[in-house]
Amino acid sequence: MIGAVTDPTAGEPLIDAGQISARVSELGDEISADYEGRAPVLLITLKGAFVFASDLLRELRPDTDPRVEFVRASSYGDDIVSSGSLRLVGPDPPSVHDQDVLILEDILDTGRTLTALKARIRTLGARSVEIAALLVKDRPIPERPRPRYVGFHIPDVFVVGYGLDYAQRYRHLPDVRVLEAP
Ligand code: 5GP
Ligand code: MG
Repeated sequence: MIGAVTDPTAGEPLIDAGQISARVSELGDEISADYEGRAPVLLITLKGAFVFASDLLRELRPDTDPRVEFVRASSYGDDIVSSGSLRLVGPDPPSVHDQDVLILEDILDTGRTLTALKARIRTLGARSVEIAALLVKDRPIPERPRPRYVGFHIPDVFVVGYGLDYAQRYRHLPDVRVLEAP
């Protein structure tokens, strides 16, 4: 745990709101085309992915006919580094059985969350499991799950905004910003 951080609202964003909405719109087109006629289950990882998911949902073609489910995947504590132990809550097994599941995640870092979540969804009998991640951190971890859809690749920095928090703060920012220890 670090005691203080710089103010992320000072200075320029790493990714601005216009870039995000343009990219989310492209992802919506791609996902609508790939899942045509399959009525996918969009599995939203709380809390971080809720802003990305709500924008992405509204970029899907109406005939995509998605179902929306939530899962809580959290590591303990408010550290800016992963704290080690992972907790997964949800989804209800019947909601994903025999379904084409697309996990919506805010950011792929070590890959621990998505590795565990993908395994759980397979165990529950999903027909397919893919990942859409708004952000993917540039990290040399070969065994990380590979998202089928990626918003942006970013350097190995800690970011907040557009749903992503530090100690539950900054989720409301419309863009993605770097948080640094002073
Ligand atoms: P992983 O399991 O891939 O290491 O971590 C993924 C989760 O850790 C993300 O869903 C997110 O909750 C958190 N996380 C990883 N990197 C960042 C970051 O740069 N900023 C924020 N706010 N959360 C992060
Ligand atoms: Mg998360």
